[in-house]
Amino acid sequence: MATDLEIARATPLRPIAEIAARAGIPDAALIPYGRHKAKVDLDFVRAAEARAGGGALVLVTGINPTAAGEGKTTTTIGLGDALNALGTRAMICLREPSLGPCFGTKGGATGGGRAQVAPMEEINLHFTGDFHAITSANNLLAAMADNHLYWGNGLGLDPRRITWRRAMDMNDRNLRSMVVGLGGAAQGVPREDGFDITVASEVMAIFCLARDLADLQARLGRIIVGHRRDGTPVTARDLKADGAMAALLRDAFAPNLVQTLEGSPALIHGGPFANIAHGCNSVVATRLGLRLAEVVVTEAGFGADLGAEKFLHIKCRAAGLAPAACVVVATVRALKLNGGAAKAELAREDLAALARGIPNLARHVENMGKFGLPVIVALNRFASDTEAEIAAVREAMARLGVEAVLCTHWADGAAGALDLARAVNAAIAAGTARYAPLYPEAMPLADKLRTIAREIYRAAEVQIPPAVAARLARWEEQGFGRLPVCVAKTQYSFSADPALLGAPEGHVLPVREVRLSAGAGFVVAICGDIMTMPGLPKRPAAEQIGLDAEGRIVGLF
Ligand code: ADP
Ligand code: MG
Repeated sequence: MATDLEIARATPLRPIAEIAARAGIPDAALIPYGRHKAKVDLDFVRAAEARAGGGALVLVTGINPTAAGEGKTTTTIGLGDALNALGTRAMICLREPSLGPCFGTKGGATGGGRAQVAPMEEINLHFTGDFHAITSANNLLAAMADNHLYWGNGLGLDPRRITWRRAMDMNDRNLRSMVVGLGGAAQGVPREDGFDITVASEVMAIFCLARDLADLQARLGRIIVGHRRDGTPVTARDLKADGAMAALLRDAFAPNLVQTLEGSPALIHGGPFANIAHGCNSVVATRLGLRLAEVVVTEAGFGADLGAEKFLHIKCRAAGLAPAACVVVATVRALKLNGGAAKAELAREDLAALARGIPNLARHVENMGKFGLPVIVALNRFASDTEAEIAAVREAMARLGVEAVLCTHWADGAAGALDLARAVNAAIAAGTARYAPLYPEAMPLADKLRTIAREIYRAAEVQIPPAVAARLARWEEQGFGRLPVCVAKTQYSFSADPALLGAPEGHVLPVREVRLSAGAGFVVAICGDIMTMPGLPKRPAAEQIGLDAEGRIVGLF
């Protein structure tokens, strides 16, 4: 069977200007990066913003996944292709892949099979350099903070209370904790430091939530770098770093246009983590898509308990968006895993494990309904799925009054997602969506956390240690009480325990730590072991990647 890379390479691509023209972007608004990638000029983006009207927003989310991912990206692309095939002008909006997973376990993030965005090697590796710009902006702030200490520390920043870390887009556990500034008085002020992966940087979250360049710079300025001995914060603005950071990000801030293997336009822009941050592509790209297309299909990372909840509470609120429908991607494999089947046995028919796992899907569906969204289940077919298993999922969803549409876009491209596209079009046409967040901005931070835990995770209780409660209270006094809460917890379970699969109830959500992302505009609640600098596995995917005799990249998946 052909690999994703082989399928992608065998498909001829069209000049990017042709894709742009079809999407309503004139040649003059394109900043080409080679023949198949282009940035969309920010003047055009601004002019499009000013236009009235806009398309319908469709969120693609999923059940609690297996480690391999369950096909949200693949389904987002397949659905976009199928909508276009039906004559509905659709734009796909996705995150940019990070090199960490690319060389680690999961692989790239450009879809799979016949539902891919291309050129996949370029998108998965350096693309248009956005991550370089974001990394540079992050590290400029770090360098300016240390330089400030070196030159006398006029702001009184406590070297032991600097929370701003350096960043690099690589899985490298050796960089998690270190002491910098060693070697004597001329080498800086010694202090503990460490690196986060670029996608975990607050700069990435800001990049993805800012509405325009002015908002970008204002948010960068609000970043809290650390604290003085008296506990008062020192910001990037205090260090006068915000202007240069914004300058480094200016070109990157223009959204990237590429195409799918079937010639649909796709905007791929920004890529924040879905745990420490909100996990979806830039607001700028999504809003541009809505001005250009009849339907924008976009993905939120992880399962719906994390990705969709944050999309709806953080991104939609920051960007003034209201989705028209929600697609929950499920696979028979992941449902069986949620029903207790062993990872090695997922290819074998197991109706009992499937029946035990279906409540996971049912709960995600019910949760999306709480936000006022019509829900369609996309059953992403794997070759090992049996007819009896597919029928079992469909029947269970029918009993809930929800349509589960079988999709084969991975194998068949647009043709495999036409039924899904019809169901999505019907949901949009019905106009039943009444998007409403589950908590108001004015609710106290701890109660926001309790609302998410109760309504989405079905936890009995949230454990907030006194030190954490005190921090939340202080932030409320300082005027940060209206921010949304961004929960960082495992993606594998509704709970904070990755082993608690299915649809657990009555569990306890332990909050270990809270962090204020004042620039991004959310409070992060860390529940469990969350890695902001992942490591590589014993056999990293990087071992398989290389160049062939013609100098083409091989082994990327
Ligand atoms: P997610 O966005 O949910 O993390 P992806 O869409 O990136 O998942 O897919 C994860 C991996 O699974 C990719 O390598 C993709 O090619 C593969 N995949 C997706 N759907 C199928 C399918 N129906 N059959 C086989 N492999 C699939
Ligand atoms: Mg994905």
